Amino acid sequence: MHDERSRELYDRALSVLPGGVNSPVRAVRPYPFFVERGDGAHVVDADGNKYIDYVMGYGPLLLGHGLPQEVESRIQSQLSDGPMYGAPTEVEVELAEFIARHVQSVEMVRFVNSGTEATTSAVRLARGYTGRDKIVVMQGGYHGAQESTLVEGKTGGTGSPSSSGIPDAFAEETITVPFNDERAVREVFEERGDEIAAVLAEPILGNCASVGPVEGYLDTLREVTDDHGALLVFDEVMTGFRVGGLQCAQGKFGVTPDLTTFAKVIGGGFPVGAIGGPAEIMESFTPTGDVFQAGTYSGHPLSLTAGLEMLRYAAENDVYDHLADLGDQLRSGLADILEDEAPEYTVTGYDSMFKVVFTRDGPRDLSGQCEAGCRQDPDCPRFDYCPKSKADVSAAETERWERLFWPAMKEQGVFLTANQYESQFLSYAHTDEDVEKTLEAYKEVL
Ligand code: PMP
Repeated sequence: MHDERSRELYDRALSVLPGGVNSPVRAVRPYPFFVERGDGAHVVDADGNKYIDYVMGYGPLLLGHGLPQEVESRIQSQLSDGPMYGAPTEVEVELAEFIARHVQSVEMVRFVNSGTEATTSAVRLARGYTGRDKIVVMQGGYHGAQESTLVEGKTGGTGSPSSSGIPDAFAEETITVPFNDERAVREVFEERGDEIAAVLAEPILGNCASVGPVEGYLDTLREVTDDHGALLVFDEVMTGFRVGGLQCAQGKFGVTPDLTTFAKVIGGGFPVGAIGGPAEIMESFTPTGDVFQAGTYSGHPLSLTAGLEMLRYAAENDVYDHLADLGDQLRSGLADILEDEAPEYTVTGYDSMFKVVFTRDGPRDLSGQCEAGCRQDPDCPRFDYCPKSKADVSAAETERWERLFWPAMKEQGVFLTANQYESQFLSYAHTDEDVEKTLEAYKEVL
């Protein structure tokens, strides 16, 4: 595989961009390839190498790199009308209506420009609405590069910042609990329920190897927040309009949050974020309420046109069925391969999200009994061995994943996310043949 051009670009990048990248996860070892262009389910790097792409922009590219003609021409037409105005446009109303029509918990939407901005504003809204300061987050959850959630801490205690540059005072308002641990969250609410503004949680830990909720866990979050006058905020930045189709993960799991954050898919590959919820809470945002929220680029016509057209396309075609079929094919193929090559490892994921977790202490004597990917089914014989929390994923062979597995898969022409924690994504552009090739590569490398 030639890589001269990527190396040269990375050398130049290191002089002008800290670490050579604009988001740290891209700085893979020993150096990243630079992308020349996307092509359906593939990316082509600066040296002409082609990879089957499961990074998919870290989630936004539901349809892959090439957009259907009608989607592309609407974006082009918006572009030729000028990119943005600083005054309202029809597309903002249309996308908000589309989201409200499909996502049961949403009546109103405020558009912003990234997932980080969406979660930051949702936390402020929850605090403003309840008049309380503390929030509860999941260990292993990720809500973007924001002060209130870049926190690590002991279960049930207030945290400390997980990045330098964040005052302790921010982290002191954030309580962390392990995902899927009902007792821990109940205890937190028993002790200080009247101080808590919200529980902020991804319904699936998408930044921790696609670990899903065990039966009843999300219902418990709903129940304790209701009982104590706190809000339940689902961060569906990654799962929104990807897992559970147009109803999102909250529809799939049948739990209705007070607020939801979106980003990624709803911008069709352009920068976007959104907060959605009932009018009664949402109207606490300025200008109707007193929770300040604003943005020059908010509701950006190009992003919203791309998102709306992509979602309309998904609603009118077999996008989600195709993705769920391919996902099942890939996860069950991976489960078969693991049985032979690495029976202690586990497949996780839902719909178009997947990951192989290098679990260390899986059973070695359950061949043939693993279903297609860990969906946290208590009847599965591997249930006890499947990762349920950050601690479980961190106990895996994370270093081996990064050091050996990722580069070897790349050599096989498969572009995976850069570490054990980040989820991987199928797109509508992936085919049965891509999945077959990918499974061959996994078999070879494992
Ligand atoms: N929340 C979740 C669940 C995410 O996965 C991400 C990004 N991966 C974010 C928030 C932050 O979004 P952004 O990178 O658009 O700021």
